[in-house]
Amino acid sequence: MTPATDPVHIRKQLLKLSLELGKPGNLLAILGEGNTSAFVDDDTFFVKASGSQLGTLNPRQLLQVRFDGILPLLDQELDQEAMEAALLAARIDPDGPRPSVETAFHAWLLRQEGINYVGHTHPVEVNKILCSDKAETFARRRLFPEEIVCCGPMSLLIDYINPGAELARAIRSGWEQFTGEQGFAPKLILLRNHGMIAVGSTPESVLATTAMAVKAAEIFNGAHILGEVVFMAPEEVDRIHNRLDEQYRRERLSLD
Ligand SMILES: [Zn+2]
Repeated sequence: MTPATDPVHIRKQLLKLSLELGKPGNLLAILGEGNTSAFVDDDTFFVKASGSQLGTLNPRQLLQVRFDGILPLLDQELDQEAMEAALLAARIDPDGPRPSVETAFHAWLLRQEGINYVGHTHPVEVNKILCSDKAETFARRRLFPEEIVCCGPMSLLIDYINPGAELARAIRSGWEQFTGEQGFAPKLILLRNHGMIAVGSTPESVLATTAMAVKAAEIFNGAHILGEVVFMAPEEVDRIHNRLDEQYRRERLSLD
């Protein structure tokens, strides 16, 4: 078994990512806010336990659950009791705690191409924007080249919706519409009045997207204080994105 598919290794990587996202100084999540997950194989993934804290997480609070116990929840209208029962039934270890209420969107995102890790946080700086009328502008426009590299040329913005299966459904339909219109998948999902989700093939890419989203938000908010925000021209954003895309394709080809 290679390290990339060894559940013990994946759990360690996910724990490291979770602890980093939960560091108090990073202002990404406090108390029980935020959650993380990692793809293990076609049948299972790890997800944070409900009620646990990212900053103090221990390995037992990263639960291995079955995709086929969670994905059907996106197409069912269940009451809270039935939903909790379904979350508990999806665990590999029946003695573990209950998986996070957000497990459904993690499951769906981890089935998308190239996504092995997901980090959901509530960063103060990003939420200042997501709790304002500037959310759409922040999602659609770009301020500097590194933001395009780490967060993509555009982010997916989702309206406020209750956490759980409803939010997972909104993310699924928003994602499908976004990829259909833009021809590429988002790296950063912004949830109005809630927080953000970074997706990536490695824990490092999830951390980079999260850190860069926070930096872009700080700059966006600072520029607003100084006056009118000056964004990069859309042609320039496209040019950088296409160059990165080209580079990525070449790297993939040389690896194949
Ligand atoms: Zn949340």
